[in-house]
Amino acid sequence: MQLAVIGTGYVGLVAGVGFADIGNDVVCVDVDETKIARLKRGEVPIYEPGLDALIETNVKAGRLTFSTDITTAIRAAEVVIIAVGTPPAADGSADLSAVFSVAETIGKNLNGFKVVVTKSTVPVGTADRIEERIRRHTTQPFGVASNPEFLKEGAAIEDFMKPDRVVIGSNNARALEVLRNLYTPLVRKSEDIHEMDARSAELTKYAANAMLATRISFMNDLAVLSEKLGADIERVRKAVGADPRIGPKFLYPGAGFGGSCFPKDISALIQIGQGVGHELEVVRAVESVNKRQKRLLFEKLRRHLDGALEGRTVAVWGLAFKPQTDDIREAPALVMIRELLEAGAKVRAHDPEAMNNVRAVLGDRITYCENMYEALEGADALALLTEWQEYRQPDFERVKRLLRTPTLLDGRNIWDPKALRALGFWYTGIGRP
Ligand code: NAD
Repeated sequence: MQLAVIGTGYVGLVAGVGFADIGNDVVCVDVDETKIARLKRGEVPIYEPGLDALIETNVKAGRLTFSTDITTAIRAAEVVIIAVGTPPAADGSADLSAVFSVAETIGKNLNGFKVVVTKSTVPVGTADRIEERIRRHTTQPFGVASNPEFLKEGAAIEDFMKPDRVVIGSNNARALEVLRNLYTPLVRKSEDIHEMDARSAELTKYAANAMLATRISFMNDLAVLSEKLGADIERVRKAVGADPRIGPKFLYPGAGFGGSCFPKDISALIQIGQGVGHELEVVRAVESVNKRQKRLLFEKLRRHLDGALEGRTVAVWGLAFKPQTDDIREAPALVMIRELLEAGAKVRAHDPEAMNNVRAVLGDRITYCENMYEALEGADALALLTEWQEYRQPDFERVKRLLRTPTLLDGRNIWDPKALRALGFWYTGIGRP
């Protein structure tokens, strides 16, 4: 099939290369000229394991190209996939301006039947609004479908190429058939493709993210309770997760969830509910617990230092919102760093992949260290915010030698409190006695 993927970010790039890899002809389009120029030179603008090799193979095979020319891409395509950003607007709702601008361009360039697929996460009812915007410009036939994406950054290729499930929603039978054919090579069995109407598909994406975020906030809330009661949330987590009705995933307490999806999708879902007069009380609580949780580590450090943060130096390990990505959107590390700077502390930071992105936001307000141990030099405390593998078993003797005072804040509960206390550290994690 001839595909045009509009928006070449984490989702569009992975989807584009994934569809090319199974034999389709794909052009990935973006308004960001620098991004497209880099991709044309063979550079990959994001860090995603395995992505560079897959792009190289498919570009060489002539199945994958990059362009800023949206008109030509649309006119040549049988399927146009919208994968542009839908960032939060000031009121928390999803900003759909990029989605609608693409829809208008599609309408103006329709030259025969095309399937217009929304992969961006969009509020319920957006498919109808896209259809209406295309219809303003054309009498040509077309089908609109919602095809939310469930990939996880850091494991995006695997998730895209071997999805647990694919959701396609449309009220147009021809569009559903085209998408079923497109996805059939990727799924294990045909039942893994869930066909439904567009509104249900749009809601499925928010429901899935809200459910995952609910598990995290629930455990974070219980972690705070555990600490007050002298219980150990790690023991609780393992035992609760052993119940097959609950399962072990997404029960990890930590420094709060970040990323480009959960925070924004949750606030958008709250707005969607309010739009039809329904207050989503559980989702509201998920959001407020998360906001509190993102400040928890900072508060712990402030208490430990009796409020005396002015002039102190804090080492931060991990800036990305989770391991295996360079994405720092809504990352808990940024909340902690901003609090520290505001309190007059200095920050020495390390991350294997995300430092350039943080530099673009914070500039030289903090010190970036190429080596994780360098970040500790002269620091009064070490805070771990992202559980990259290389932080799991550091040389703690060296850590202790480099720190001015042996203080550890483990925002992901990856270290052993007993062993560290035996080594002479002051240790605090999340929800552990
Ligand atoms: P992103 O910011 O990485 O990429 C979006 C891209 O769209 C950017 O490169 C931007 O330049 C481009 N763009 C913006 N306006 C455009 C226009 N008018 N024409 C062409 N290109 C345009 O975003 P992302 O993380 O890839 O997310 C895209 C969508 O997918 C969002 O709705 C997001 O919620 C959803 N989503 C993201 C993930 C994820 O893990 N990142 C997972 C599932 C769903």
